Amino acid sequence: MRLLIDGAMVWDGTGAKPFAGKVLIEGERIAAVAPQAENVASDGAERLDAAGKFLMPGMVEGHAHLSFVDTPRGTALGELPPEDHALLTMDAARKLFGAGFTSACSAAAAKIRLDVAVRDAIDRGVIDGPRLLAASPELTVTGGLGDGRKLHLHQDSFGVAVDGPDEVRRMARLCLREGVDMIKLNISGELGTDSAPAIAAVMTDAEVAAGVEAAHTAGRRAAAHARASDSVKRALRHGVDVIYHCDYADEEALDGLEAAKDRVFTGPAIGLTVSRLESLRGDNTAEGRRWLERMTPQFEATCKVHHEMRRRGIRVVVGGDYGFAANPQGTNARDLEHFVTHFGFSPSEALQAATRTGGEIMRRGHELGLVRQGYLADLLLIDGDPLKDIRVLQDKKRFAFIMKDGVRYVPCQGAPHVRRLH
Ligand SMILES: [Zn+2]
Repeated sequence: MRLLIDGAMVWDGTGAKPFAGKVLIEGERIAAVAPQAENVASDGAERLDAAGKFLMPGMVEGHAHLSFVDTPRGTALGELPPEDHALLTMDAARKLFGAGFTSACSAAAAKIRLDVAVRDAIDRGVIDGPRLLAASPELTVTGGLGDGRKLHLHQDSFGVAVDGPDEVRRMARLCLREGVDMIKLNISGELGTDSAPAIAAVMTDAEVAAGVEAAHTAGRRAAAHARASDSVKRALRHGVDVIYHCDYADEEALDGLEAAKDRVFTGPAIGLTVSRLESLRGDNTAEGRRWLERMTPQFEATCKVHHEMRRRGIRVVVGGDYGFAANPQGTNARDLEHFVTHFGFSPSEALQAATRTGGEIMRRGHELGLVRQGYLADLLLIDGDPLKDIRVLQDKKRFAFIMKDGVRYVPCQGAPHVRRLH
């Protein structure tokens, strides 16, 4: 298959200004990129007139939870039988793809094999979806975020409670055996998990070290849920590769992130916070007001820290814990708007976080995330200019096509999915 995309404004993902140009696709890769005035040898290629449209790399969701299936509470995930849960996870992958995300780095699965099974089905072409890096469930200490049990009943959610380095190691190795690409460690607690608050680093040094060692020994990566400043430092100390949230990172933690910026990735996962705050503002119950009071300072801390991370050039990926009732799967492109509105990113910087940095967190920065000769042909052709208004990416009707590995897909009428063209 050869396709010449002719006359689009090409934004290549590097942050350079877009230019009117030609992009030639051969098979799954980009064969040539040239300004409009230059000739591109395209004999026999199908020509697509893209004049007036915007061409950019496919987006990368850097904090995906495809098995979080829009339930109001995380503990509801434990009630889903694995068969049903796998189908719903597949559906979430298709929704994410239909929202313009051609790749996704998972930040935890609700059951050990959910990401793995969906990743493999996509790779084999059984279903259409984004290329996926699979994660483990959230390894958490007893009482930590994701320990959904009660004393009188066993209730799974999206976490597995493990205490002490031996238990962490054993569970990490089990998840690695089952095929995950990343081990998730909940080093800090979370707002609302009263036995493990967001400002506390509840997973010990020895536990973090055991999880990271297991992942790295298998050639895989470790990611951390790390809101507390001490949890960020603990993650850095033990070589965690992806350090999510970082809301309360102090000066020392920020210095550590900056010193490690060629090695680590961060991601705020701000989408869920913003959506919850939006719904709480219309909630006049005492409970609603109490939550608004608790969440607002954390949101303000996140905004402050991410202005600073941007200034220091620390790599930040988009992706916002989508998959709850307040922020359902498929609305993920809202995250880019949040980066612009709340973190001081320019639209170009938010787009770079979603494309170039996204390619890097997928471990494929050499072939993914840019419109460049030799790169994988993951592209979005858009009716509109996201550099002028980042919100155009939230309107699926504006996607003239979503391309992954050189194959074109178009949004389905009235459904959040896509249809393969050929
Ligand atoms: Zn998450």
